[in-house]
Amino acid sequence: MLITKLKSSNELDEFFSKKLFVFKCFGCSEVYFPEEEINNFASGKQEKISGIAQIDYLCNEDFAKRYIEKNVDRIHNCEGIIVFSCGVGVQVVARLLENKAVYPGCNTFYLNGFQGLTVLECDCGQCGQCYLNHTGGICPITSCAKGLLNGPCGGAKNKKCEVHPEVDCGWISIYERLKKINEGSTLKKKGVLIRNFEKIIKGI
Ligand code: SF4
Ligand code: SF4
Repeated sequence: MLITKLKSSNELDEFFSKKLFVFKCFGCSEVYFPEEEINNFASGKQEKISGIAQIDYLCNEDFAKRYIEKNVDRIHNCEGIIVFSCGVGVQVVARLLENKAVYPGCNTFYLNGFQGLTVLECDCGQCGQCYLNHTGGICPITSCAKGLLNGPCGGAKNKKCEVHPEVDCGWISIYERLKKINEGSTLKKKGVLIRNFEKIIKGI
């Protein structure tokens, strides 16, 4: 089951201040996926869209790679990518297009059980307030052992997490990715992020 909701129009308008390429993933649309709202919103932003790719199961890296190859010129000409999918799909696109800013069009509330072809390298903690636009497309909930939202704990050694020394520190990865997309100063500018735990859906 998948439950995602479109982000607020204020947030989306801010993303669309740039010319964006759009990925829409309707592969898990069985439950609570705002397909109609996404299409309506995108139709009102035509002049800010360099191209659109609709794909089932964006979480499958091989599928996603093929769509990127097909749209390479349009992607090259855009200033960023917006992805309407669960948090996993957004992260897959960010991994494949490491020099492009990637923005989540939706907040993911729930994706347990069957949900397409999820790769193991990316995970979404279903927080209901997607932060991937602030963190270079790397989830701070699942890539940091402490789920920190505002930067590293300071315990990393040789870029490895102090809780799980065999795993890269999520916040060092976030910082390195932000530098690649020239948004290294984003963390300083954005103010403090606060997590609203009431948005987490439990026990469905
Ligand atoms: S920030 Fe992470 S946990 Fe929250 S919706 Fe985005 S990918 Fe999922
Ligand atoms: S070392 Fe990095 S990944 Fe580990 S808890 Fe601290 S900030 Fe999070």
